[in-house]
Amino acid sequence: MLAYTYIEKGRFALVEKLKPVLVEQTDAIVRVTMSSICSSDLHIKHGSVPRAVPGITVGHEMVGVVEEAGTEVTNVKPGDRVTVNVETFCGECFFCRNGYVNNCTDPNGGWALGCRIDGGQTEYVRVPLANQGLNRIPDGVTDEQALLVGDVLATGFWAARISEITEDDTVLIIGAGPTGICTLLCVMLRNPHLIIVCEKSEERRRFIREHYPDILLTTPEECKDFVLQHTDRGGADRVLEVAGADDTFRLAWECARPNAIVTVVALYDQPQILPLPDMYGKNLTFKTGGVDGCDCSETLRLIEEGKLDTTPLITHRFPLCEIEEAYRVFENKLDGVIKVAIV
Ligand SMILES: [Zn+2]
Ligand SMILES: [Zn+2]
Repeated sequence: MLAYTYIEKGRFALVEKLKPVLVEQTDAIVRVTMSSICSSDLHIKHGSVPRAVPGITVGHEMVGVVEEAGTEVTNVKPGDRVTVNVETFCGECFFCRNGYVNNCTDPNGGWALGCRIDGGQTEYVRVPLANQGLNRIPDGVTDEQALLVGDVLATGFWAARISEITEDDTVLIIGAGPTGICTLLCVMLRNPHLIIVCEKSEERRRFIREHYPDILLTTPEECKDFVLQHTDRGGADRVLEVAGADDTFRLAWECARPNAIVTVVALYDQPQILPLPDMYGKNLTFKTGGVDGCDCSETLRLIEEGKLDTTPLITHRFPLCEIEEAYRVFENKLDGVIKVAIV
């Protein structure tokens, strides 16, 4: 089978590999019917993910059909259409039992697929701990509707959940890339009083204006004043930082009102400064970290009920044999791309 593979820093290539087989009885083999490219794949390509193992098949966003399942896999069976979770987790350790699956202490736990073990930009993938890693796709939900459930939508859902948003809140979301838009969709489910999206790209602001006309839009330069004009509380009640650009961490806490929650979803290339003297008296609560991807059955239900729809984000489609071109378009943000589907 063909597998898009991390060869060395700066180089991925489509190579021929053997079809994976079950290793543990908790594994499942999934025939990949659709996958996507994430900016984390680009981080691997650029050599900025030290844990990534050369030779592995990349890709951690995928849906497919269960081909084979170990004897201990009970939640899905061969023939089931499934989403694959970006995180591998045991479901039994202290962190898993408390919903912090990103911190699972199992040796296989965390982001393994497409990083430390073979991932999904290929034809078949072995999913360890499949009882936790796979969720059955409801019959009425298409592959495209479910494609982002395991990673980028999980991140948006988690970000909105930990931000403790109420209907009285003004929510500022910084960044309208794929994760920012998924965060927006999940914030919208909570019906806050006002949502403001700050995004520097004109193209992406246009995308938001077209698809979500009720959302207020601003730019990084105007953001602080814009937020102050739209609230009498001295800033936003909730700020979700999903951009990860040079100045967006500072922008996030500066735009927050006293006693606000600032949720940092972004991954930065550089350390950020927390200037405590400047923010003394603002009494902010910061929440940071990586997604706990344990709400996939709930997001699938919301998709089935028509309350959550990420299909507008899938702007481009390529067959696996043209994945090189898909990466070129995605990496260089060409042609208004948000997400690509590899079919
Ligand atoms: Zn990802
Ligand atoms: Zn665990």
